[in-house]
Amino acid sequence: MRFSTRAIHAGQSPDPATGSIMTPVYLTSTYVQKAPGDHKGYEYARTQHPTRAALEKNLASLENAEFGLCFASGLAAENTVLNLLKSGDHVVSCRDLYGGTYRLFTKVWEKFGIEFSFVNAFDVREIEKAIRKETKQIWLETPSNPQLTIVDIRAASEIAHRHSVQVVVDNTFATPCLQQPLDLGADIVVHSTTKYLGGHSDVIGGAILTGDAETHEQLKFYQNSVGAVPGALDCFLVLRGTKTLAVRMERHCQNAGIIAEFLSGHKDVKAIHYPGLPDDPGHAVAKKQMSGFGGMISVELEGGMERNLRFTTKTKVFSLAESLGGVESLLGHPMSMTHAAIPAEERAKAGLPDSLIRLSVGIEDEADLVEDLDRAILESR
Ligand code: PLP
Repeated sequence: MRFSTRAIHAGQSPDPATGSIMTPVYLTSTYVQKAPGDHKGYEYARTQHPTRAALEKNLASLENAEFGLCFASGLAAENTVLNLLKSGDHVVSCRDLYGGTYRLFTKVWEKFGIEFSFVNAFDVREIEKAIRKETKQIWLETPSNPQLTIVDIRAASEIAHRHSVQVVVDNTFATPCLQQPLDLGADIVVHSTTKYLGGHSDVIGGAILTGDAETHEQLKFYQNSVGAVPGALDCFLVLRGTKTLAVRMERHCQNAGIIAEFLSGHKDVKAIHYPGLPDDPGHAVAKKQMSGFGGMISVELEGGMERNLRFTTKTKVFSLAESLGGVESLLGHPMSMTHAAIPAEERAKAGLPDSLIRLSVGIEDEADLVEDLDRAILESR
């Protein structure tokens, strides 16, 4: 079955007890056993949960993965992938990435003896240069948060596998609708399902998808042992979100394309990052590995920090808020919001300007979005 059909049906079938077409929200923590060990595959809800199982199967199908695991947040999913490492191991990560991921690496895992090297992964030769004999994972975010840097997943995976290193791709920005990293050679995909997969800014969640049975078994062991699992209602909300993923992504891409074109032609715009623009450095690779360019744009207006901050307070349709990927348009100031955990010198190395503004383009009428930005740009002068 094709993507949009699997988005609606994979992992789900009418409830055998009632015929309910929607997967029930099983609000239970435990399951009755006839005799010790005599049960229907469900013992305790941290370990197995039917609403979660439906979501795990659904997401695995969308990422062309054999196996899926869901978590209470994107960071809980990432933390579980890092559980695969042991003291002395080394990770090569792209430099431009979500601030919370950087914080998880450097403030949580470094103290357990895991080392991280941050490189400009847009140039995949930088990845190879950073690989050492202790390297166990290459960690990529593409498109990256917040600068929409594109990494060639196939090229990075070829390099990694030559050195017997696993490739982890955070596919939150693209979603499996636009990019399927496992098909391009990656070993593990992670998601913040809080974003496009949920799609309505009403749930926090995460997921890990892989095609490798041994990796999956290890991750499943950590999912159960650490216990950062999502609740039944959260799983239901993400499951409902994925049903409309394909139509939402089409509109996100369309609206973002129109806005990127509008902004790139505006005389007040100093810099714009959107992989769909033909002169964006990542355009050629994005065209090769993505089927659309996504709904995220980052932009810097002329006039420095104060002007850019003023701009964030002038929009009426775009709301100033953390997060992204919902049906409604949001904007944020990475330096003080989503990327505040990254020290100034690291942000400078990543070329992340203090005044950069990140737009999560929603699925409202595109004319309202363009008018909103146009007016806010004028009013912030
Ligand atoms: N990965 C990316 C690219 C993100 O943008 C975020 C959150 O903004 C996360 C992971 C973390 O996800 P969560 O907030 O669900 O823990």
